[in-house]
Amino acid sequence: MIAEIISVGTELLLGQIVNTDASFVAKELSDLGINTYHQSVVGDNQEKMKKTIEIAEERSDLLILIGGLGPTQDDITKQTLSEHLDEPLMIEAGAMERIRLWFSGSNREMTSNNKKQALYFQNGRMFKNINGMAIGSFIKKNGTSYLLLPGPPHELKKMFHSEVTPYLKTLLTGERQFIVSKTLRFFGIGESTLVNKLQSLIDHQTNPTIAPYAGELEVSLRITASGPDQETCSKLIEKTSQQVMDEVGEYIYGEGEDTSLEQVVSDLLREKNIVLSAAESLTAGLFQSQLVSVPKSSEVFLGGMVAYAEKVKQEVLGVPESILKEKGMVSEECAISMAERCLEIFHSDIAISFTGVAGPDSLEGNPPGTVWIGISQKNKKSFAKKYRFMRTREGNRRQSVMQGLDLLRKTLQ
Ligand code: ATP
Repeated sequence: MIAEIISVGTELLLGQIVNTDASFVAKELSDLGINTYHQSVVGDNQEKMKKTIEIAEERSDLLILIGGLGPTQDDITKQTLSEHLDEPLMIEAGAMERIRLWFSGSNREMTSNNKKQALYFQNGRMFKNINGMAIGSFIKKNGTSYLLLPGPPHELKKMFHSEVTPYLKTLLTGERQFIVSKTLRFFGIGESTLVNKLQSLIDHQTNPTIAPYAGELEVSLRITASGPDQETCSKLIEKTSQQVMDEVGEYIYGEGEDTSLEQVVSDLLREKNIVLSAAESLTAGLFQSQLVSVPKSSEVFLGGMVAYAEKVKQEVLGVPESILKEKGMVSEECAISMAERCLEIFHSDIAISFTGVAGPDSLEGNPPGTVWIGISQKNKKSFAKKYRFMRTREGNRRQSVMQGLDLLRKTLQ
């Protein structure tokens, strides 16, 4: 099945809102193993919408129209498709009752245009809108399927997960089809290198499919299998997963959509029953802020210090003057000393330090993006690693944090 997403709304064309709905739906479709070759955006204009639908009908089997299901004048998606297909709309009694109740409950008068939101295709089916009033609608005609979904993201997401996904699964085979996905999370390898290393695996794979996604600082790989039951899918996924691990296992830091490097580090600290502290220069608190985004961080993180200026590194943190004068702030010795002093001051089991040049100018002869990250642990030899990032000032700071988290992960593992 080939799907096409048509986002409806003049505000999208004007750049007033970002088309996050299309991105959400495209991702969900890919999880279901449904290919999407085209996406388009059309304004709230009946003629242009009909033209867009006609073009999509030529090349796709499932047209997903998002937005324009509301009560206002410019919400014309259902009416336009109804005219185009010559298919009548009718009021869905349950949805109408919900709309009536909402208006009476909030002491507001219901106007007749609100009824529009309870319309669906008489020869099709409806999808409930748990988070809103405009119901979703589906109809199939002349071999093409049409799915109409609401624009507000929280309404769309809820409807998609609870109503649309199960229905699409039945459409895929006409019977219950299992689709299972697993996401592997990578750090320290770019998308193109990852794809390059896995090229032959990706080229020869149809079930499971392997799809890489590049984030700003990390890459994910989603492996999706379909089959008659959960066990068959899981076996297919595990086999492919193992092949991926054999090739690029060293870069995998976790599994699952919700995993993050800070979560993995937090879990490792908890598992080992040890506590962390941090001394930050160029990241100036960014590392600590990211780490404590994980709930219950107080169990694994004691605190830290922003030692930005040389004076503070020396007078407050206690980095020896000799190191600062002879080796400089952007040096292995400074990073190690910062971590060791931090370990002492905070009485932690492990401490991390960040010192470097965020940019755009050089510092002490070091080009922008030169960063040292130090680690000190009780009863173990301290060390520091040098990195060279090639991003903007903010990018270099963010990447330093991610690199620090990854260094901690590797050290703890
Ligand atoms: P409503 O009943 O609220 O009118 P609707 O289904 O008619 O819902 P629209 O009127 O097209 O949807 O959009 C309502 C709001 O939903 C927009 O103002 C915008 O905030 C959000 N929205 C619509 N389309 C998108 C999209 N493609 N991506 C992200 N947000 C969107």
